[in-house]
Amino acid sequence: MKAAKKAVVKKAAVEKTAAKKTAAEKTAPAAKKAAAKRTAPKKTAPAAKKAAAKKTAAKTAAKTATAKKTAAVAKAAVEQPQPPPAGKPESPAALVRRARRINRELAEVYPYAHPELDFENPFQLLVATVLSAQTTDLRVNQTTPTLFAKYPTPEDLAAANPEEVEEILRPCGFFRAKTKSVIGLSKGLVEQFGGEVPGRLEDLVKLPGVGRKTAFVVLGNAFGRPGITVDTHFQRLVRRWRWTAETDPDKIEAAVGALFPKSDWTDLSHHVIWHGRRMCHARKPACGVCPIAPLCPAYGEGETDPEKAKKLLKYEKGGFPGQRLKPPQAYLDAGGRPAPPLGAASGT
Ligand code: SF4
Repeated sequence: MKAAKKAVVKKAAVEKTAAKKTAAEKTAPAAKKAAAKRTAPKKTAPAAKKAAAKKTAAKTAAKTATAKKTAAVAKAAVEQPQPPPAGKPESPAALVRRARRINRELAEVYPYAHPELDFENPFQLLVATVLSAQTTDLRVNQTTPTLFAKYPTPEDLAAANPEEVEEILRPCGFFRAKTKSVIGLSKGLVEQFGGEVPGRLEDLVKLPGVGRKTAFVVLGNAFGRPGITVDTHFQRLVRRWRWTAETDPDKIEAAVGALFPKSDWTDLSHHVIWHGRRMCHARKPACGVCPIAPLCPAYGEGETDPEKAKKLLKYEKGGFPGQRLKPPQAYLDAGGRPAPPLGAASGT
């Protein structure tokens, strides 16, 4: 009996040992796995290093790009012509650079700039230009359709009854003097040039009432010959920009002409006059929205608050119609609107 008991105890011990062994065998893979996990960071260390290196490289690249950008901005600032400090003279070379830069900037703002008198031939432009003295191009454009419908050629206007012409020209102001001028120049065209508008400055200025300004408008816009138009806007702006201190129109024309190649003269005149009409007004220039403010010694003469300055913009820049009843297609394509005929609400 004792022996049987011993045998049972021995069997139990053997079974216990076997169970322990099995459990140990079972847990071995898990332990191995855990150990592997523990050693894993060691294995991935190169990848982490790689990622860190990548991050550093990206940071360095970003820093280099920023440095490059800063250098480019600084370089551009150095290259960008600045207005001369008040009271200091500007070298002729610096003035030429700044003047041309202003013209380029304005060409981007007014790519559709054009003469703002409606005309279909040199004769109409010549008469319209004479009529534009002391009044707006808009008022001339609203008046000339009636005039040219009744007197389409120099011969017709030369033979016109002055009183009838005066009646038509009344809205332009100074209508008696202007009637005399347009009838006189029409007679000059008929008598001296066979009823044709001459294409040379020296011939044009021989006509009664035609000065250099009028002649250049006609040469530049009806004959494609370069000309600078020194009107009231042009005079005001070039003085604000310190392109010249001259006050005589002929001297202004010579001084400004020396800053630009001849081929730029006609477009330059449009850009300057358009800027004067739309933004750089005589009394309240819209400096706060002016694209050439960094180049302008007169910045601050007008409204500098952008919101208030925006309200001063005229014509298409302020959402109003332009000066011409029949503007060029490029102007209409750019969103410009034709001016209304005489008597209609102008919206300006
Ligand atoms: S900054 Fe002012 S003064 Fe100068 S051009 Fe512009 S609007 Fe005219």
